[in-house]
Amino acid sequence: MPAAVKPLSGHSLKIDLHSHTLCSDGRLSPEELVTRAHSVQLDVLAITDHDCIDAIAPALRFQQGQSRALHIVPGVELSCRWHGFDIHILGLNIDYCCPQFLARLAEQARVRAQRAERICQKLSKAGVDNVFADAERLAGKSQLTRTHIARVLLERGLVSHMQGAFDKYLGKGKRAFVSPEWISIEQAVSWIQQAGGQAVLAHPGHYDLSAKWLRRLVDEFTVAGGEAMELTQGQLASQKYALLVEICQQQGLLASTGSDFHHPGRWRELGRQLHLPEGITPIWHNWQLPSVAA
Ligand code: AMP
Ligand code: MN
Ligand code: MN
Ligand code: MN
Repeated sequence: MPAAVKPLSGHSLKIDLHSHTLCSDGRLSPEELVTRAHSVQLDVLAITDHDCIDAIAPALRFQQGQSRALHIVPGVELSCRWHGFDIHILGLNIDYCCPQFLARLAEQARVRAQRAERICQKLSKAGVDNVFADAERLAGKSQLTRTHIARVLLERGLVSHMQGAFDKYLGKGKRAFVSPEWISIEQAVSWIQQAGGQAVLAHPGHYDLSAKWLRRLVDEFTVAGGEAMELTQGQLASQKYALLVEICQQQGLLASTGSDFHHPGRWRELGRQLHLPEGITPIWHNWQLPSVAA
C-alpha cells in the first residue's frame, strides 16, 4: 500500500512547469500568459506547447519589459505513441533555437496536419461535413489540435461540451479517431536531450492505464533516459496520486509539477495545486533559479 502523501514544505518559489498558449491549444497569447503568471505571483513558468516552441521567444521578449521578476523555462510537450496510447513527454530547458530540434518539430507538425485531415474525412463519413476549414480558421497559424476540432463540433451544437466531442467522436476508438504516427518515447527523450533539455513524463495519472501498465510505462521512460515525472495532484484520487509517488521513488526519478494550464476557468488555473510531496527531489534542485522573490 503506498504511503500517505504529505506536501513538501519549505520551497518558497512558486513554480509551474506545464502551460499552453494559442500557439497550440491554449487560449492566451504568450504575452497574456506571462501577464497571468505575474498576476498569480509565479516565480518560475515553463511554456510547453504541443510539439511547438513558437511562444517562447515572444514570451521572453515580453518579460524583458516587465518590472516583476519571472523565470521563463523554454519547454515543449511532445506527442508520442506507446502501445496505441497517446503519451506526452515534456522537454524543459530546451534550446528552442536548435536547428535540428526545429526540423524535428516540423516533422511532428506534418504528422499532425495529416491526422487532422484524416479525422475530418472520418467526420464527413459520419455526416459532419467541412470541419477542416472551420478548424483551420480557429487554429490560424497554430498547431491544429483535436481541441480545435472539438471546438468546431461544440460551436455547431453537435455536442454540449468539449468532453462530449472526445467521448463521441475524437477519443480513442471513437468514430473519428485516427491513431497518428507520433514518435516513440525513446525518440522524444533523445530529441529533448539532444536539444539540451530534460525529459519529463507528463500527467502520468491521466492515461487510461492499469497500475501494471503505468509501472511499465514509467519503467520504459526511465530506461530511455527520462529524468522526471509530473506529480501534480490536480483532480487525481489520493490513492492514485500515492501510487505515482511510490513509482517515482522506486524508479529514482526526479519530480516535476505543472498545472497544464490552457485557459482561465474553474478546473485548472495557472500556479494552482502544485505542491510536491516529501521525500522526492524536484527537477529544479540543481537549476540556477532566482532567490525567493521579495
Ligand atoms: P492532440 O494533441 O491534437 O491529440 O490534442 C490533445 C489535446 O486535446 C490535449 O492536450 C487536451 O488539451 C485535449 N483533450 C484531450 N482529451 C480531452 C478530453 N477528453 N476532453 C477535453 N479535452 C481533451
Ligand atoms: Mn492540450
Ligand atoms: Mn498533455
Ligand atoms: Mn499539456
